[in-house]
Amino acid sequence: MKAIKRLYCRAYQLVFRTALPVLPYRQPKLLDHLREIVPLLEDKQISSILLVADAGVRSLGLTAALEESLERAHIACAVYEQRMPNPTIANVEEARALYIEGKAQAIIAVGGGSAMDCAKVVGARIARPNKPVQKMRGLLRILRKTPLMIAVPTTAGTGSETTLAAVITDSETHYKYPINDFALIPDYAVLDAELTLGLPPQITATTGLDALTHAVEAYIGRSTNRLTRAMAEEAVALIAGNLQAVYLDGGNLEARQHMLRAAYCAGIAFARSYVGYVHGIAHSLGGQYGIAHGLANAVILPHMLRRYGASCTARLARLAAVAGLVPPETTIRPPRSTSSAGSKRGTNPSVCRQGFPRSVKKTFLRWPAAPTGRAIRSTPSPC
Ligand SMILES: [Zn+2]
Repeated sequence: MKAIKRLYCRAYQLVFRTALPVLPYRQPKLLDHLREIVPLLEDKQISSILLVADAGVRSLGLTAALEESLERAHIACAVYEQRMPNPTIANVEEARALYIEGKAQAIIAVGGGSAMDCAKVVGARIARPNKPVQKMRGLLRILRKTPLMIAVPTTAGTGSETTLAAVITDSETHYKYPINDFALIPDYAVLDAELTLGLPPQITATTGLDALTHAVEAYIGRSTNRLTRAMAEEAVALIAGNLQAVYLDGGNLEARQHMLRAAYCAGIAFARSYVGYVHGIAHSLGGQYGIAHGLANAVILPHMLRRYGASCTARLARLAAVAGLVPPETTIRPPRSTSSAGSKRGTNPSVCRQGFPRSVKKTFLRWPAAPTGRAIRSTPSPC
């Protein structure tokens, strides 16, 4: 059975790797500031929008300036506050009702991956009013133009502002599953570092390490191309140069901007070249135990890289050089052992040495099991 599954996975990867150059991937147009949104909407003669915002982000006042400028421009704004850490089908349907009631013409998502995923699936439901969310699960189940979507990340990690994936939780079955479709790629992404200034150090670190994991897994996978390798390298260089700075000084605006760019680049890389076992395991731990996604990745990444062994040594060496950890001319030697997954040595950036658990066991002890969670059914691409 394992051999059949392996064969299926390899065939799946081969088909997508072969088709990669002709698949309709696109990148969102980039805006630098939240204040650019209203002029954009006016240009497009949009008079009503749905704002999907993380409740915590809105309570901090991060959407206040946007809401005020919308009001001044006489653009109607229905607000849906995303309160669940993982968006559910019920969340999507509630937000969709607001979109319809307000006769909205566009969706703005402000927050982390949760708000953006919810907004993406609202767009999908508008495009496909007769198709329930459950039937959108998997790959290419939408295939229709969704309303204009503007994604405004307030963390530098998920890369959801540029990916074709959304992860939704079915609160009846407690399963999380991905929806992947080119229609879900946002039309615009606003990389405004001022929105990330208030992130606490732990969320800064875990989301940043999520972005690092996206870049590394995309880079060492079998489905890379020139663009995704370049994007992954840029992301790794930026994270290596800025993550510790923003962890130690959350008010460092320049480093925050670099981290937003890094998360965006890593998002482009993994949207086309996929993530791997680290994410597969992290999603399962998140569904089963409620462990924060970035934290799970950070703990698992060094163990899994060691487990991969020689198969990824050369590419990791290139990333190490890109990150400035070793000189570019460093000689690569194959590892002595490829099965030392239990080793205590970590390969995470030094930010992880500051109070973060290094082992999966310690992570469990610190983050107890969520009572209603169940494992995600893993697929290769979602964040
Ligand atoms: Zn991720």
